[in-house]
Amino acid sequence: MNCRKKTKQIVQYTETVCWGYETENGPDVWEQLSPEYGLCGTGIHQSPIDLVSPTPTELPALTFNYQSTRLNIRNTGNTIEVVYPEGSWVEIDDTKYHLLQFHFHAPSEHTVSGNLYDMEMHLVHKSEDNTLAVIGVLIENGRTNPEFAAFWQYLPSIPGESEEIKDVTLNVLDVLPSAKSTYRYTGSLTTPPCSEGVKWFIMTTPIEMSEAQIAAFKAILHDNNRPVQPLNGRELLTDAEANG
Ligand SMILES: [Zn+2]
Repeated sequence: MNCRKKTKQIVQYTETVCWGYETENGPDVWEQLSPEYGLCGTGIHQSPIDLVSPTPTELPALTFNYQSTRLNIRNTGNTIEVVYPEGSWVEIDDTKYHLLQFHFHAPSEHTVSGNLYDMEMHLVHKSEDNTLAVIGVLIENGRTNPEFAAFWQYLPSIPGESEEIKDVTLNVLDVLPSAKSTYRYTGSLTTPPCSEGVKWFIMTTPIEMSEAQIAAFKAILHDNNRPVQPLNGRELLTDAEANG
């Protein structure tokens, strides 16, 4: 576990402080919790960011090769995560990024022109040379999401709890918006150790979930979103058609 051992001088016992989103272990103090979390405080290419004024550019397409999987879902204490087995990837510019897992934040971490969305899904990928690529999907209040309906009832509510639901399968490709245009920039993990060099692809089209689906997630976990970080001169690109 990446937790700091903290010795309390008066009562002489050691407790482990895990990172989280409370005052004593949240984003403002992540860098103090472990020497490995330094970039959370000193990094200058951090995520999330506010998505505003992207530069329209022609960019290599995302070619998806995702398979269906049985639902292997766990509550990490800081998010709810679905682990993906080997064999699913997205190919971008001749590099394959293998899908490892996807998970959720509520509200969103990225903002669009300063506005938060109800939730954000992150699909975490890694290439053979260990480059991380994360596809972000913004989620807004709207219609019931049929792809999530089957497994939403299995959201594990207790930290550390995991469930394998053998009779529910999911291809997360079915969850993505049909328009695959993205915002792109290079940033970091939004959780400790805040490692940089992460390629970000955030879908410009949000997906919808019903108020009840969003409420079901937030009843288990909420405010697990890191605040936006300064762009610090980085390029923010998009392959979305310019409006109008
Ligand atoms: Zn995330």
